[in-house]
Amino acid sequence: MLEDQTCVVTGSSRGIGRGIAEELGSYGADVVVNYRSSEAAAHETVEAIEDGGGNAIAIQGDVAEYEEVEAMCDQVHDTFGRVDVLVNNAGITIDKKFENMTRDDWQTVVEVNLGGVFNCTHCLFDDIKKSSDGRLINISSVVGQQGNYGQANYATTKSGLFGFTRTLALELASTGSTANCVAPGFVETDMLEEVPERVQQKILDRIPLNRFATVDDVAGIVRFLAGPDSSYMTGQILAVNGGMEW
Ligand code: NAP
Repeated sequence: MLEDQTCVVTGSSRGIGRGIAEELGSYGADVVVNYRSSEAAAHETVEAIEDGGGNAIAIQGDVAEYEEVEAMCDQVHDTFGRVDVLVNNAGITIDKKFENMTRDDWQTVVEVNLGGVFNCTHCLFDDIKKSSDGRLINISSVVGQQGNYGQANYATTKSGLFGFTRTLALELASTGSTANCVAPGFVETDMLEEVPERVQQKILDRIPLNRFATVDDVAGIVRFLAGPDSSYMTGQILAVNGGMEW
């Protein structure tokens, strides 16, 4: 159980983040549902957690904007006092062949997928250090391991999380808090919906388990990392990809 844990899940109005927020809430954690623009969906996530007997609040904040993250963290501290678990989940794609990718396409994805991770981790680092069960959990991707046609910007950010996680694991180690990475394969969310059907079929042909992941496949692994059973694991990448090679 995660009772007495306060968990911040970035980008949890929809998709994988929502699944993680609901999973952590169902195990007794107080959950912060962060979103950028999907306000109604964020409130639905909060209601779903509350309907299951849990406790949650929704807080708007663009993770790419340091001042917005600071304001979000102030609100979290006012409400819950402290944070034990940060799940850096918010992420975006702007897919194009590299030769067509603009500097802006590159920068926008880097600012959210890596800049957002810096901002949230930086603002909550003291909390994670001080917590007796501090957990930093970064959501990467199999694309960070394999690369993927048309995703030079996205793949770079997702690979970058490996170095970040490993380094933070070392810097947190003396406190007993941990940092780990989850690298999902292809998960049934709005992000996958954007991939043309023809390409989705090609991807499916490469997945030994012959199906895309559900949000719950990923959420269960994050719940394990957030809880006491993972306390001797740090600096690791957990692949949740149906057996894809990397
Ligand atoms: P999604 O369905 O597109 O949902 C993205 C979530 O992130 C939404 O809640 C969105 O909130 C939020 N978000 C986006 N930009 C934000 C920002 N700047 N600040 C705060 N929140 C922001 O994506 P998903 O498929 O669930 O992916 C979640 C994570 O898993 C991402 O890091 C992604 O790279 C990773 N991942 C996904 C897959 C996959 O196949 N789907 C595979 C491997 C890894 P708003 O709607 O309010 O903007």
